[in-house]
Amino acid sequence: MSNTYGISKQDEQEIRARDKTCVYCGILMKQYPHAMGASGATIEHFNNDGPSKKKYNLAICCRRCNSSKGTMSLSAWFKTPYCREKKINEKVR
Ligand SMILES: [Zn+2]
Repeated sequence: MSNTYGISKQDEQEIRARDKTCVYCGILMKQYPHAMGASGATIEHFNNDGPSKKKYNLAICCRRCNSSKGTMSLSAWFKTPYCREKKINEKVR
């Protein structure tokens, strides 16, 4: 079994166990009990401009944030209406 994140399955499970809410908008992932796959929580791979506290620079983020962000850098994404509406900025973790 491999995944698309370049991390081991064990690391992925640790991250999913640790992060119960979206790192950006804070939505509780428990709202999506079956979401640990295609339909819900995704693992966000931060670049160098991302928060550094997270293990391996990875964190859970919800599908909405993930699809909104797309391939934008964090700093560019923070300027979008989506982030402004949800008050997502550099201070969120
Ligand atoms: Zn989110």
